[in-house]
Amino acid sequence: MTDAIRPLIAGNWKMNGLKASAAEFDAMLTGAAAVAAKADLLVCPPATLIAAFAAKAAGKTVAVGAQDCHPKASGAHTGDIAAEMLADAGASAIIVGHSERRADHGESDDLVRQKAEAAWRAGVIAIVCVGETQGQRDAGQTLDILRGQLSLSLPGGSKADNLVVAYEPVWAIGTGLTPTAKDVEQIHGFIRELLISRFSDEGAKMRILYGGSVKPSNAAELMAVKNVNGALVGGASLKAADFLAIAKGC
Ligand code: PGA
Repeated sequence: MTDAIRPLIAGNWKMNGLKASAAEFDAMLTGAAAVAAKADLLVCPPATLIAAFAAKAAGKTVAVGAQDCHPKASGAHTGDIAAEMLADAGASAIIVGHSERRADHGESDDLVRQKAEAAWRAGVIAIVCVGETQGQRDAGQTLDILRGQLSLSLPGGSKADNLVVAYEPVWAIGTGLTPTAKDVEQIHGFIRELLISRFSDEGAKMRILYGGSVKPSNAAELMAVKNVNGALVGGASLKAADFLAIAKGC
């Protein structure tokens, strides 16, 4: 890790995990002490497990987060979950704008921004995801896409302690493919410049996570890249040994 910003290793369990998965989370809690000096740890299980995991994590060095929220605080929205409910269950951060939600649910940048604001309203950190598709990358549009997503998805008033940006190239998610360290450096540097030009000192201190096929075998190389302040980890966050090994790479 090249920067003075404390890294965050966030696990996104996606639609995986039953009550029996608590054993894996317990193993993460047990092993977390060994990596606490290196990074903050956050696990975002499905909403059904947040309260149970948060109860287990009380007083420990692993925080619990959520994967999405509705922009409103309450109301007639069957099946949706408000940020306030997630905070009440024990979440201290909410991922918003993940590319799977943007694709599966047609979420726009504007909706993502409203969700980030909902997270703040509930008193928790918003982790805003951005990233280009393979087609956009092939067309040389990566930086334009990121500029557009960041300008519309990040709320005004974003600060280093209430917002985290996750750069996740869509083509790297769950594929085993990753950009080269050189590409990551260029893109994270570009994101850092945009954050500084919009949020000044706060933008300079904000965490920018890399996400997309982060594994124990590539974590150290990716985490050493300038302006990479941690990782958003999908598949490899389901196993305590892998998740902790990734944090050790910071
Ligand atoms: P992956 O997913 O680590 O399984 O590629 C990352 C993510 O979607 O956050």
